[in-house]
Amino acid sequence: MKYKVLATEGRAKRAEVETVHGTIQTPVFMNVGTVAAIKGAVSTEDLERIGTQVELSNTYHLHVRTGDKIIKQLGGLHKFMSWNKPILTDSGGFQVFSLAGLRKIREEGVTFHSHIDGRKIFMGPEESIQIQSNLGSTIAMAFDECPPALAEKEYVRPSVERTTRWLVRCKAELDRLNALDDTVNKEQVLFGINQGAIFPDIRIEHAKRIVDMDLDGYAIGGLAVGESHEQMYYILDETVPYLPQNKPVYLMGVGTPANILEGVERGVDFFDCVYPTRNGRHAHLYTNHGKINLMNAKYETDDRPIEEGCGCPACQRYSRAYIRHLLKAKEMLGMRLCVLHNLYFYNQMMKEIRDAIDCGCFAMYKKHKLASMEENLE
Ligand SMILES: [Zn+2]
Repeated sequence: MKYKVLATEGRAKRAEVETVHGTIQTPVFMNVGTVAAIKGAVSTEDLERIGTQVELSNTYHLHVRTGDKIIKQLGGLHKFMSWNKPILTDSGGFQVFSLAGLRKIREEGVTFHSHIDGRKIFMGPEESIQIQSNLGSTIAMAFDECPPALAEKEYVRPSVERTTRWLVRCKAELDRLNALDDTVNKEQVLFGINQGAIFPDIRIEHAKRIVDMDLDGYAIGGLAVGESHEQMYYILDETVPYLPQNKPVYLMGVGTPANILEGVERGVDFFDCVYPTRNGRHAHLYTNHGKINLMNAKYETDDRPIEEGCGCPACQRYSRAYIRHLLKAKEMLGMRLCVLHNLYFYNQMMKEIRDAIDCGCFAMYKKHKLASMEENLE
């Protein structure tokens, strides 16, 4: 994987990442397809139309259903879901720690119960990497523990130390698997994950340790899990300078358009979040003039598109009144059009961000974008 910085403005970076599945222009927002599908009946053809560069799938979900071994047998995740651009898989750690019936964390890994059928599963660094290798994603994520945002320092420090030891095991396992003949993607790369909750000293120390391992990219995990936005920005201010300038930085699970603008300003390249899809499914739509709740009565006779000038498949063809009618009638198309609009909005904003850094006007772009989005249309 090759990472090339094309322009900078302050700490903001505009870069290109060459992968075995194509080039990613950063800063980028990855579109979250939990079970190898974006919730809301969105197809991979749709993703091509709305400017998706990277699709993100969840390792834990695919492991418990339909199973990574079956997906490998069918040629890997790219072939399975018919998507030939980059895919990032998470490690499963976040779901294991937050969703599954957690049993016990040990040095070897975690034993937990599947949320589908309750069966007992063990996952450690090796298992997580084996699953991601079976899926054959472009970028695999290290198996880590994501401590709660407000965890005590006495808990966070040993947890982060274990996460470092797990990272060493992840890297060894990925190297081993990439050398095997029947591996789906022998050029799969690994991103390490910085943890340390809201303690800058632990974050910085951990960043230095994992940077020494010379991985292809670095993520900042364990943010947007309950701390304030100010705390998140402070941790980014403190931590990102210790990550390599010549490697991608990924802020996991973040966030609102404002969070993304603040992250870019602090040197982040990759983002992902369920907000645009989840909000879309609930008729909450992003526009350049604030958020719209399409269920409001005032949109019943509104024959304008969700946003004038938007190039998404919903706005190109359908009115607010019609989409609202579909949502009221519980027709799946209503949800689908809302999700397409929101994802297009995010993807388009990332393009504007890239253009702004290219021309050295990101600071001004950010100021105007934040001001216009603060208008309240709801
Ligand atoms: Zn639109």
